[in-house]
Amino acid sequence: MKTILKITPLLFIVVVFFTNCNKDEPINIFTVEDDKTLGLQVKDEIESDPATYPILSETAYPDAYKHLRRIRDTILASGKVGYADEFNWECKLINDDVLNAFCAPGGYIYVYTGLINYLDNEAQFAGVLGHEMAHAARRHSTSQLTKAYGVSVLLSLITGNDPGLIAQVTASLLVLAFSRSNENDADAYSVVYLNPSHYDARGVAGFFEKLHEGDSSGTNIPFLSTHPSDANRIENINNKWMDLGSVEGDWDSLSYISFKNSLP
Ligand SMILES: [Zn+2]
Repeated sequence: MKTILKITPLLFIVVVFFTNCNKDEPINIFTVEDDKTLGLQVKDEIESDPATYPILSETAYPDAYKHLRRIRDTILASGKVGYADEFNWECKLINDDVLNAFCAPGGYIYVYTGLINYLDNEAQFAGVLGHEMAHAARRHSTSQLTKAYGVSVLLSLITGNDPGLIAQVTASLLVLAFSRSNENDADAYSVVYLNPSHYDARGVAGFFEKLHEGDSSGTNIPFLSTHPSDANRIENINNKWMDLGSVEGDWDSLSYISFKNSLP
């Protein structure tokens, strides 16, 4: 990240566009179409670089994608995901034993097989997927990238064609940290999306509990460095769940075994 920041021109004025307004929707100087355009460029870059992003073949592993989309569609069916119809919500699996997931603007979500294998049940996975979808739906990704690159660079990227820059922006999605407030927002929306649903809406908390129980100082877990935690994270998730009525859902360990078994 330091390298990226060093070579980023500092002549751009930071524009604070994620201010709160009366509605439950942040202000963003980028249009929804800009998010979709930028997301599509990132997707094209990822698919053109299989050495860096080894996308799992859907032809060879159709069941893995069926499981992934089944869980994604449960989240979208909540009717609470912003831009549910406007964004593509394309989810892809990256075949690498890395504990990470990331999202590009416009609803392009990438999940590493290492993350799926690490989790215990589908509620935990749905919680993490809901968290990633919230970053896209709440348009945090554009905010994160703007902080790193400046408004002018991103706008020129959207309107022009600079393969070198899009490669750099795509790589930065894997290393740039979201702000703590964006993290808390994405956690809260993950709970909202899944409450009530087939799944227990506290799944995303279960994921972080599992991380804290294990040996996870953060250095070897990309997800923790790009999605920084604060001390109250699990408590905040549980409080959100209680605020929404403490509805208990399924954790679905058995169906998750099928999902894991569908992976390479
Ligand atoms: Zn996050």
